[in-house]
Amino acid sequence: MTGLYTSSIEMVEVSPRDGLQNEKREIATADKLALISRAISAGTRRIEVTSFVNPRAVPQMADAEAVCAALPSRDDVTYIGLVMNQRGADRALATRRIDQLGAVAVTTDTFAMANQGQSSDGSVDAARAIIEMARASGRTGQATIAASFGCPFEGEVAEDRVLAMALAIAEAGAVEIGLADTIGVANPAHVARLVARVREAIAPLPVRVHFHNTRGTGLANVWAALGAGAVTVDASIGGLGGCPFAPGAAGNVATEDVVNMLERAGIATGLNLAALIETNHWLAGVMDRRLPGMVAHTPAFPAAA
Ligand code: ZN
Repeated sequence: MTGLYTSSIEMVEVSPRDGLQNEKREIATADKLALISRAISAGTRRIEVTSFVNPRAVPQMADAEAVCAALPSRDDVTYIGLVMNQRGADRALATRRIDQLGAVAVTTDTFAMANQGQSSDGSVDAARAIIEMARASGRTGQATIAASFGCPFEGEVAEDRVLAMALAIAEAGAVEIGLADTIGVANPAHVARLVARVREAIAPLPVRVHFHNTRGTGLANVWAALGAGAVTVDASIGGLGGCPFAPGAAGNVATEDVVNMLERAGIATGLNLAALIETNHWLAGVMDRRLPGMVAHTPAFPAAA
């Protein structure tokens, strides 16, 4: 394979947070914990378990503390809590169960205002402060740059803007920079170019990628990102997900679809495809609807002996 493909990559399971945050009907805390346990059983070793945001803005995440209190005790699993500001970071750190703070910086002022009530520069400052708080308390911090490939309100986003944000956040001591296609407008050529530029700029810090499949380009973008040197991929079991503040946002790439693609291409993910598919079906029962992931609805290949 031409490119920077490695023999194994890391996956981050984001279904308990990104996957569920946009669901209208309340998901029971016990079901969230069952989802987390199932993901860990399927091999997940890094998982975004919740977000510490204003429960009036994102009611589905109002049980963040309750979820954290009941997380399985696993030294080999990194639990990520998403936070937008110092108040959220304080809450996450107070649970004593969050290993890593995930901050979010947004590329444009309009989306930053809708998503977190601040300017784009303000979101970079906030991400830096969150990362410093994580470090000061012996945890790690990373940030995701939302709308790296396009903004729901302002359209195209300059690559230089993303690069400058990545550098500013890396300087604060982030352990990783994530590039997110929050609204699913990225194409593989754009992804390959921007991942390569950011990777070179922040090396040796790793680049994580986060794609939504809004327009069907999610898996192609994952493949392009890995070829350009990204080493970690966010995904959501069942392809659940969406941003409450981005009009038309659809699901994340489905974990089981990414795993199917990569494992068949010879790239190890550490995840068990059959267990993920079973979890898709279980989660569909919880949500009472068919989930958008694809491989969970097809016959096994090769057929089981
Ligand atoms: Zn997302």
